[in-house]
Amino acid sequence: MSPELWKEFSGEKALQETQRLVDFGPRPSGSSAIEKTRQYISETLAKNGWEAERQEFRETPVSGRGKTVFANIIARFPAVKGQPASRATQRVIIGSHFDTKLMPIRFVGANDAGSSTGALLELSRVLAQSPEFAQQFELVFFDGEEGVEQISRNVESGPDGLVGSRYYAKQVRSRARQFRFAIVWDMIGDKELTITLPSDTPPNLSGGIFKAAEELGFRNKFGFAPGSILDDHEPIARIARIPAMDIIDFNYTSTENQFWHTAADSVDKLSAESLEIVGRVTLKMLISELGVK
Ligand SMILES: [Zn+2]
Repeated sequence: MSPELWKEFSGEKALQETQRLVDFGPRPSGSSAIEKTRQYISETLAKNGWEAERQEFRETPVSGRGKTVFANIIARFPAVKGQPASRATQRVIIGSHFDTKLMPIRFVGANDAGSSTGALLELSRVLAQSPEFAQQFELVFFDGEEGVEQISRNVESGPDGLVGSRYYAKQVRSRARQFRFAIVWDMIGDKELTITLPSDTPPNLSGGIFKAAEELGFRNKFGFAPGSILDDHEPIARIARIPAMDIIDFNYTSTENQFWHTAADSVDKLSAESLEIVGRVTLKMLISELGVK
């Protein structure tokens, strides 16, 4: 594997993937649009050489709203093309949610969560160039991150929000020992990129990201949020007990930035450069953590 594999991550390609996802329109859990999105994700993963597992379940995220069908997509890289992938070679989980918040407006979620999902598809293309390296990853596309009303503070039991990651975390718990850590991407495409790692991020993981950012000349784009952040990394950390970090631009939600959970969260707010910075910094960190063989 090239020690400079990170250079293969293309922000332009990640942005094109994001556009494809946004073109499906609003993609709330249980909708026909999210099913089409899931189909596209699975087909793209297969085209890039990954085996895509559909992890389906039914849950009632808010009482009185009825049961919703949720489905995560889990991708693993087979050692032999076309053969079933082993479930024992993965060391790191990389995740992104692909649902968009159900809203009374036409909310297409370009940054939240088109950007991170488009970037994860691009990552699958890049990792596939190094099959042995790719086998060390489990790429997880989470359904149901968004709250129907509001994400419940109780990460372990919910019931609202983080539905897909909570279900995944319970299932992966029996394999937890094989994983060194997990990284979740969320809202990583804003033109004015300001990555705000949750303040309680395990120091070795934040340190690894800051070091990679420094090496690539983007250290000024990465910092800490004032506190913790409720996102898909939390169930992985608390239920599966796998050290987990959230690479998120939570600045996108601030009051001076008016686009979060509005009709204005559209592709024109994103830049290929921001996606490329996050993609390359993350990949560089992964190469140093897992080593080049
Ligand atoms: Zn959101």
